[in-house]
Amino acid sequence: MTARLPHVPPAAAARPKLLIVDDQPVNLQALYHAFSSDHQVFMATSGEQALALARDRQPDLVLLDVVMPGMDGHEVCRRLKADPATQDIPVIFVTAQDDPEDETRGLELGAVDFIAKPINPAIVRARARTHVTLKRQGDLLRQMVFVDGLTGVHNRRFLDEHLADELQRCVREGRDLALVLLDVDFFKRFNDRHGHQAGDDCLRQVAAAVKGAMRRPTDVVARYGGEEFACVVPDVDESGALALAFRISEAVRTLAIPHGDSGVGDHVSVSLGVARALPPAPGAAALPPSALIEAADRLLYRAKAAGRAQAAIGVAGAG
Ligand SMILES: [Mg+2]
Repeated sequence: MTARLPHVPPAAAARPKLLIVDDQPVNLQALYHAFSSDHQVFMATSGEQALALARDRQPDLVLLDVVMPGMDGHEVCRRLKADPATQDIPVIFVTAQDDPEDETRGLELGAVDFIAKPINPAIVRARARTHVTLKRQGDLLRQMVFVDGLTGVHNRRFLDEHLADELQRCVREGRDLALVLLDVDFFKRFNDRHGHQAGDDCLRQVAAAVKGAMRRPTDVVARYGGEEFACVVPDVDESGALALAFRISEAVRTLAIPHGDSGVGDHVSVSLGVARALPPAPGAAALPPSALIEAADRLLYRAKAAGRAQAAIGVAGAG
């Protein structure tokens, strides 16, 4: 079993984000009216749409219809709970059926509650509030366990588990994955020259710049070690991975943090190793996380050996 992995939540004071899923517009409308005044509401009319929105928007709660043409609510719930990016989002089934067996099935799939149609707005709001509160408390706890105290990005513990999950997903769904390992150039000399307070501040700024270079909520940044950071980026091809490495370099360069003792310039720069994992052939085993990390590490070394402040890219397992 792997730990349940969160995406770091936004400020707790933000309006709760709610995803409503129902194939009937009239039901969507009723729920929308119950929540739109004080929630950020997203709506989906099919299971596929619901899964995509849940992953992209990271709602605090999903209100999910059971009976829908195509992918039904049970299947949507099963998939939400199987995906590390969405598994911590609570799901409430909204159903016209009054069948204990049906209810049991939903709870076994990981739903936290049931609400009967037609909905009573006061009741549905009260239950939603309870589950949003619980979700946010859980987010805070996970944040304390999985976030790096200095920089506010994820920590090594999170990275190790997240990478293993994403590599499995890469196999299951036949998608590419990129791991970017980056290192602040001549950071020890930076500390020696400017002091450790300035060093800490530099790492905080670099972390924020790297995070800002990510484009999707599913892209994860972690502090890998001292002055090393790692980014796990799913669904990205070679040119996308290179573009990302370029955005990271530029974001750090734009910080314009003076470096009084760098061998490559007047300002803080980074070197990057970008290792890509391709879906294995059918029947072949998934790439172990250690192999992808080793590949990124070798590429990072290559970028440094070539003069630093640059990126090297390659495919893990391709020599
Ligand atoms: Mg329906």
